[in-house]
Amino acid sequence: MNGGRQLFTCPTCGKCFFYWVPDTTPQPKVKCYFCNAEAFPNGEPPAAPAPVPSPAAPVPPTVAPPAEGTPPPAS
Ligand SMILES: [Zn+2]
Repeated sequence: MNGGRQLFTCPTCGKCFFYWVPDTTPQPKVKCYFCNAEAFPNGEPPAAPAPVPSPAAPVPPTVAPPAEGTPPPAS
């Protein structure tokens, strides 16, 4: 697994330790070994892109009920 170690200083308890930053997750959430505080030392990862709301969802065509008085199909 590729990645690198970075020094983390816990903002809560001030302890320092190394944490692993995988290449695939450049902004990992680090949990302090000492006080269990969680932090994003590299900044919080960008939020997942919100789904683009489709503009004015097309209204499904209403199925017209058969007109009253429609004779049944001749058999
Ligand atoms: Zn801590």
